[in-house]
This record gives sequence, structure tokens and C-alpha cells, in this order.
Amino acid sequence: MKKPYYIDFPQEHFEGQMHRYRCVSCQEETTTINGRLEGHLPTCTYRLKLEKAGYEAVGCSEKPASNDADDFD
Ligand SMILES: [Zn+2]
Repeated sequence: MKKPYYIDFPQEHFEGQMHRYRCVSCQEETTTINGRLEGHLPTCTYRLKLEKAGYEAVGCSEKPASNDADDFD
């Protein structure tokens, strides 16, 4: 199950930078995330929530064998 863009995550401003936003959970900048689930850190609660819901990161044609989300604390 995939979505073309993942943009419904909680966002907040960089302090003093009105035009820059970041994910509240993992603090990655939205321009880095770029609407991709894999743009979030593996520990991001938003990413983990969607992955548990059955969504996959879009953009990687093959899921890396070493990327086992269950191993993260
Ligand atoms: Zn995030």
C-alpha cells in the first residue's frame, strides 16, 4: 500500500525562519522529506505509524534488506 505523497504529518516552524518547516516528530526539514515517507528518519513516529499501517516508502524500488523497522528502539 502506497501513497504518492506523505504530507499529512505534524509540522512546525524553524525558530525565526517563517518559510521553513520541519516534521515535529523527527525534525527533518520538509524540503528534505519532500513528500516521501523515507524522507523521515527511521525513528520518526509519523513514519513508524504509517509503516505499521501498511504503507511503504515510495521512491525505493526495492526495500533494503538491512532496513528492518522492528529493530529500532
Ligand atoms: Zn518525521
